[in-house]
Amino acid sequence: MFDVHVHAAPDVIDRIGYDDQICAEYAAAGFSGFVLKGHQESTVGRAKALARASGLDVVGGIALNRPAGGINPSSVAATLHSGGRVVWFPTADAHTQESAGLPRLSDLQPRLTRETLSTPPVLAANERQLKDIALVLDLIAEFDAVLCTGHLSGDECRWLFDQAQSRGITRFLLTHPSYTVPAMSVTEIADLAGRGAYVEITAYQLWHQPGMTDALLAEVARAAGDKLILASDAGQPNSPQPPLALNELIEQLTRQGLDHSWLQASASDNPRELVLT
Ligand SMILES: [Zn+2]
Repeated sequence: MFDVHVHAAPDVIDRIGYDDQICAEYAAAGFSGFVLKGHQESTVGRAKALARASGLDVVGGIALNRPAGGINPSSVAATLHSGGRVVWFPTADAHTQESAGLPRLSDLQPRLTRETLSTPPVLAANERQLKDIALVLDLIAEFDAVLCTGHLSGDECRWLFDQAQSRGITRFLLTHPSYTVPAMSVTEIADLAGRGAYVEITAYQLWHQPGMTDALLAEVARAAGDKLILASDAGQPNSPQPPLALNELIEQLTRQGLDHSWLQASASDNPRELVLT
């Protein structure tokens, strides 16, 4: 199995374990690898160190939040030239994060402003920002890297998908589209999956998303079809260890009547195809 979304210490908030501890959990569970995600810094160096020490396919990338300079081509170029494979559009600094009352770095450090990040159609057109976004997308296309939507709104995800397609990006992942942010409908998710977007469902949603049910997650999975990616998004001290979390997600969805081998492939073959092959 291969988990495209996990958090580890060090981080600005508590995590269930340090990089090496999380990596050991995956190795013990027989996983082939994982994508290490951080909201506040590039994980490329950490992922490379883990890959070299463990022999697993550990992949890093960058989330385009304010510490990265927002949607910043220099951050993306540095990430991709040093072997990063994944670029997340704004997560913890997305405007949706602020309006949903989800955690921000400025909660920890109130002297920071609460400025947020967005793309069209939310962003009022500004030539400089549009140029930066275009260059970021061109770099991702050139490196054949993975573009993840982060916590952008549904409208922004649709805009970004069109832009990504027109610029030759083939590895496009809707980051947990049924989560509180961006809260896309099953119909919207099915539409983008039908056009080639991968769709992430996370184990985190099982335990931590207000109002989420196993039945609704199963509906999202059906809408995703062969574009389904199951991930843990674990690493919180109050979630199971990441490999366990991902296995638990598969079990819960199986109990909803979904095909077990398809779910397994959505946590192994599909994510490897998205990120590595
Ligand atoms: Zn996450």
